[in-house]
Amino acid sequence: MRVLVSGASIAGPVLAYWLTRHGHEVTVVERSPVLRKTGGHAVDLFKPAMDISERMGVLPRIETLATGTTRLTYLREGTRKPLSADVTKLFAAASDRHVEVMRDDLSEIYHDATRKDVEYVFGDSITSIGDEVTFETGAPRRFDLVIGADGLHSNVRRLVFGEVAKTFVGAYLAVLSVPRDLGVPGEMIGHIGPGRTAAVYGARHLDDARAVFLFRSPELSYHHRDVARQKELLRQALRGLHPEVDSWLEHLDGDGAFYFDSITQLRTDTWSRGRVALVGDAAYCPGPAIGGSTSLAVLGAYVLAGELSAGGDHAAAFARYENEMRDLVHRSRAFALGVAKTLIPSTRLGVWGLTRGAQVLTSLPSWVVRPLAKLNSKGVRMHDSMRVRDYGRQGAGTPAP
Ligand SMILES: Cc1cc2nc3c(=O)[nH]c(=O)nc-3n(C[C@H](O)[C@H](O)[C@H](O)COP(=O)(O)OP(=O)(O)OC[C@H]3O[C@@H](n4cnc5c(N)ncnc54)[C@H](O)[C@@H]3O)c2cc1C
Repeated sequence: MRVLVSGASIAGPVLAYWLTRHGHEVTVVERSPVLRKTGGHAVDLFKPAMDISERMGVLPRIETLATGTTRLTYLREGTRKPLSADVTKLFAAASDRHVEVMRDDLSEIYHDATRKDVEYVFGDSITSIGDEVTFETGAPRRFDLVIGADGLHSNVRRLVFGEVAKTFVGAYLAVLSVPRDLGVPGEMIGHIGPGRTAAVYGARHLDDARAVFLFRSPELSYHHRDVARQKELLRQALRGLHPEVDSWLEHLDGDGAFYFDSITQLRTDTWSRGRVALVGDAAYCPGPAIGGSTSLAVLGAYVLAGELSAGGDHAAAFARYENEMRDLVHRSRAFALGVAKTLIPSTRLGVWGLTRGAQVLTSLPSWVVRPLAKLNSKGVRMHDSMRVRDYGRQGAGTPAP
């Protein structure tokens, strides 16, 4: 089949990889003029996404570029004594196999793994989907299927599904590139107060450091491409948390990479219509930074490609893909809402509870934390609870050996 994929971030290239492996002809159209190596925070790959990356042969490169963050050091607003936690214990409890990697690096790795076999068209966007697909700049073309892997603000979803149900989680996420010497590789250093938090971290291989900000707010009015307004909103929300945070915010005046988005959850359970389907954040974003959306995107892309290659028509394949992903998506949504409440507490007591809880948990020996977490396959362990089927050798519906 000839398949058009919109979006070349995470879900798009992973889907393209597996579709070409199953013998399909794939074109990926990406609105950005080049691969978006600009901005973004570290993202988490949990066991199923690690296993899929291993099958793609890219895991060693991902592990080489891991951020290597092991410690979290926080100062509560209005206090002087920093608190420290060992984050490796938290991740080891959440997943048997985990890596934290910069989104930009991960996107480039998946892109590199596909560039030989996939046609990439940068700097264009779909304008209509009918018998032919039309583009902003390119000539109209025909495809058997069109897949939207174009993120939370998906263009394909807007064109085909119109408005879909969403829940604004009541918070915003921003990431800013700051000078390298502000970050300490291996450590995330931050400040937390009621309704807002900011932290900075570096990694050995990065030539900058990243400051990440989370804040609670009623829904703000801005366009998702109006960067100047987003920067102003961020300044207003975080100013005064701590003089160090104010100094990070000064870098908003530069032209360093910047990412800003509302933490919004998509609530629709239908991810296909006719010849069109959605994957990754375009379909089931549980909320940036809170629900493991990158792992969900990798897994969803793998499952969609596998089901499309397992025989039967595309309608049956889309239905199987939706069935396969639905339970995990529902659990990710519930989990993400809980994380949002915990991660950005709105009261002083909540801030105290979060920092104290993290300290206590990470001071326990791993042999206590791990078995406790393993009892919780609906919460912190939910990603590991998903099996990665082997579509290549055994077809749909057969668990991997
Ligand atoms: C620059 C950037 C920075 C990010 N930073 C963070 C972060 O710090 N923390 C976090 O939790 N998540 C971040 N994300 C989101 C994170 O990558 C996703 O939640 C997750 O990895 C799922 O990936 P995805 O491929 O489904 O969607 P996304 O990663 O959102 O990718 C969507 C892709 O589609 C492209 N696109 C959008 N509109 C069109 C169009 N009309 N035509 C063609 N292509 C289009 C986008 O440019 C992008 O490449 C970021 C995304 C981007 C694009």
